[in-house]
Amino acid sequence: MKKFIFDAEDKNNAFITTVKNSEYGEGNLSGIPVAVKDNISTKGIETTCGSKILKGYIPPYDAHVVTLLKKQGAVIVGKTNMDEFGMGTTTESSAYGITTNPCDETRVPGGSSGGSAAAVACGMVPMALGTDTGGSIRCPASFCGIVGLKPTYGRVSRYGLIAYSNSLEQIGPMAKNVTDVSRLFEVISKPDIYDSTAVEKPYLHTPSPEIKGKKIAVPKEYFGEGVDEEVSKCVMNAILKFEDMGATISECSIPSMSYALAAYYVTCTSEASSNLSRFDGVRFGPKVGMLKKWHDEYREYRKDKFGEEVKRRILLGTFALSAGYYGKYYAKAKVAKENIKKDFIRVLKDADLIAGPTMPNIAFKIGEKSDPLEMYLSDILTVPANLAGVPAISVPCGYVEKMPVGLQIIGRHFDEESVIDAAFAFE
Ligand code: GLN
Repeated sequence: MKKFIFDAEDKNNAFITTVKNSEYGEGNLSGIPVAVKDNISTKGIETTCGSKILKGYIPPYDAHVVTLLKKQGAVIVGKTNMDEFGMGTTTESSAYGITTNPCDETRVPGGSSGGSAAAVACGMVPMALGTDTGGSIRCPASFCGIVGLKPTYGRVSRYGLIAYSNSLEQIGPMAKNVTDVSRLFEVISKPDIYDSTAVEKPYLHTPSPEIKGKKIAVPKEYFGEGVDEEVSKCVMNAILKFEDMGATISECSIPSMSYALAAYYVTCTSEASSNLSRFDGVRFGPKVGMLKKWHDEYREYRKDKFGEEVKRRILLGTFALSAGYYGKYYAKAKVAKENIKKDFIRVLKDADLIAGPTMPNIAFKIGEKSDPLEMYLSDILTVPANLAGVPAISVPCGYVEKMPVGLQIIGRHFDEESVIDAAFAFE
């Protein structure tokens, strides 16, 4: 075993917890410092999900992805800041302070994996793990000018990931370049008997820039209303570069996208209201005495320890799942989800890949998105890939107002290979 001393200044508040002294062994990632988002369980290292309710919680086991990282000799140097329980697009809803964007410290790094993105962008670590339920890897990758991949649903085990919305989320790699994203993805995409949705499709691939003859479809909805004009131009120019490299570009349509945000927010709030019911102040986190009746205790504890955004979503989700409303909301959202999946499969029958912007804007100024609805709208280009379950990567493609812009490339289920190759060709 070798020793690793992690001693870096955290100017952007990218980390909630750092591990100063670690030991590591041999493997494909031997001695490489990796940052892990704070909703991924790490044995013996505090894991808070960016929430006060889990302050002091030390998991007794490692998430499957963490076990795989350690097996390959990676050094887990710390746990990164995030929107509380992954609910947000800016990393401003963390109970541990905001993370700033290393490209411009007056702006947010994106979210919810903003800490992981900032840690990579400012050079503290070469790679990090994030999670993506509706864009939380791709959004901060886009805002901070790094590469981030949301894998196909089921390609990476979620065992040990503290659940927000289980039917949508995936753990995925973030790094400065596509090669490192590919290397990290190779390590974490291994089957796992503890996650029944984890499929046995290990990724064993070296990126190749071959894009000649590939068909790339560009959905007109990705350049529609609400998408900043300069961002659109920048991404369109990037897509045209694929044409220069020998790919064919065509326009397509994903009509079901008009339901995407509604389907996403009903699904994720419903699942969150159920998943977060386990945080009752007794089972996890700092222990409180049972001084009052259990339901008073439970209510007061949750009222005090959950942040505003989390409470808003628990309320929404509990309402959507309540008797008499389940069929009206959650079941309908599932139908919309299926239609979105069908639309993607249809487009990806003819085309190999889909391309468009990752986010409709460059990184927001800190405090700019104070209206939750407005914030939800900015997820419009990322949530469709989660609803469809398809892989999607964000790769930097230029600048607007000196801030990075992300190109999003989406592929067929379990075809991360083509998505990564296209991103590699572009880079
Ligand atoms: N911004 C989206 C949300 O708030 C996505 C979050 C995520 O992917 N974890 O739910």
